[in-house]
Amino acid sequence: MFNLVLFGPPGSGKGTQSANLLHTYGLKHISTGDLLREEIAGLTPMGVEAQKYIDQGLLVPDEVVISMISSKIDEIADARGFIFDGFPRTTAQAEALDNLLEFKNTQIHMVISLDVPVEELARRIVERGATSGRTDDTAEGVIKRMEEYNNKTAPVAAYYDQQGKLTVINGTLPIDDVTQTLTRQIDKHLLPVA
Ligand code: AMP
Repeated sequence: MFNLVLFGPPGSGKGTQSANLLHTYGLKHISTGDLLREEIAGLTPMGVEAQKYIDQGLLVPDEVVISMISSKIDEIADARGFIFDGFPRTTAQAEALDNLLEFKNTQIHMVISLDVPVEELARRIVERGATSGRTDDTAEGVIKRMEEYNNKTAPVAAYYDQQGKLTVINGTLPIDDVTQTLTRQIDKHLLPVA
């Protein structure tokens, strides 16, 4: 298996780039944001609980997200590997992911961080808000989400850097150029499918 974490602040392009890479490498995409939005749309108890946090731009509690990821990994048994998008967002989540993968005799192989300045992130998120229908894609939402990112998520980069797994790339280039940079990095570890 090959497991990649696409890391970066909200609006850095993790979802867009995951979609561009999936088929090239035959990987499965796991986005905790998408999974939580599915729970919200389904009005499940988890979704109702999660929405309170998401609407305030806060992270959903670790235990909720970790149990969701754990079931998802178990559900997709035959994967060539995973692209994790928007997870882990805290050091506790990163540790839990390491344990879950170790149990499956695998690990995180690479963490690629998309570097984008905060003004550009805010511009992208507000622009996305015009069409995404996401209640958190607003100018006020960005401020809280960035605060959560700086306090709780940014330390996750150091966690992986200590393991020698972190690569930082420029996320401000045009989408296709970022995809090319990512492919060059991933090619060092994994061959594209067919
Ligand atoms: P995203 O679509 O990845 O930007 O996530 C949207 C929102 O879902 C975030 O602002 C958080 O409130 C919540 N969320 C997504 N992934 C996580 C996670 N790994 N840990 C905690 N909260 C999360």
